Amino acid sequence: MKIYNMLNGLKNKVLKGENLSFQEAEQLYSLPEEYLTDILSASSKIRTKYRHDAVSLCAITNARSGMCPEDCAFCAQSGYHNTSISTYPLISKDEMLNRAGDTFRQGTNRFCIVTSGRGINNDELSVICEAIGEIKRLYPNLKIDASLGILSEKDASKLKKCGLDRYNHNLESAESYFSKICTTHTYADRLRTAKIIKKAGIELCCGGIIGLGETDRQRIEFAFALKDLDIDSLPLNFLNPIANTQMMNFLPLRPLSILKTIALFRFILPTKEIRICGGRQVNLRNLQPLIFMAGADAIIIGNYLTTPGSRPQDDIQMIQDLGLRVISRG
Ligand code: SF4
Repeated sequence: MKIYNMLNGLKNKVLKGENLSFQEAEQLYSLPEEYLTDILSASSKIRTKYRHDAVSLCAITNARSGMCPEDCAFCAQSGYHNTSISTYPLISKDEMLNRAGDTFRQGTNRFCIVTSGRGINNDELSVICEAIGEIKRLYPNLKIDASLGILSEKDASKLKKCGLDRYNHNLESAESYFSKICTTHTYADRLRTAKIIKKAGIELCCGGIIGLGETDRQRIEFAFALKDLDIDSLPLNFLNPIANTQMMNFLPLRPLSILKTIALFRFILPTKEIRICGGRQVNLRNLQPLIFMAGADAIIIGNYLTTPGSRPQDDIQMIQDLGLRVISRG
């Protein structure tokens, strides 16, 4: 009874528009899995209140693959890891337009151009800006996002001018854990770019990966850092250990613990978009529909950068079967 009262109290607090404290988030996240259905039911009510029944679909395209000089321990695209991905330099503007057209026809409402590497040079930025302008002319209702690494204020303002809607730059994990997952750049570097994006007036998509060896407390620390940053969209990935990366032998996350983690983020960031990204299929398998009950209101559709995803029509069918609504791209 005490636990149900505590859970109800936390839910009502969030529904009233109040913030959870760090200690309350710890109480919630430490609840045993036998309470999972109650946690999901509470989280679902919070999602419905603040995000309604709409689900956003974003398709990502790997516009420059691999050969990255950074050493992120989880990443198949790091030059430190001898993985079997295909590597290539920046694709042409025409190829970006083709890929945007393909994803538009699949029913997505967002298209994100992603490049591997620390950042981009001026020539690459010009190609991407031209492509963004052209895609916006061809598909005016498709939101265009980019994830191009560390960015200067000057580059952010160029992207804003060419019509970019949103920029992705993840913090990846808690500040107290970051040095365990990357040594070639710092958490502060990532935070700096995230703040530059906000200053430029571009929506900030910023999240990370769960299951990198961080503690429960560090997951909560990470969620509160994203809240402090006032992000617009939170991409949550769940580690899919890739052969020949430093994390290849990490144990897979348990599906029920993933669902509880999504609920934790929904309680801490009740009004924000929460997008479930890489690792959804491989870790959740048949429990994927429950991500929406846990509090998610967005997914990546189609393939990921280096790993396969679901067929877009299957994901759309899943969303419709749940009585939810795919956000229209007009
Ligand atoms: S996560 Fe990004 S910066 Fe890190 S290795 Fe992969 S592509 Fe490079």
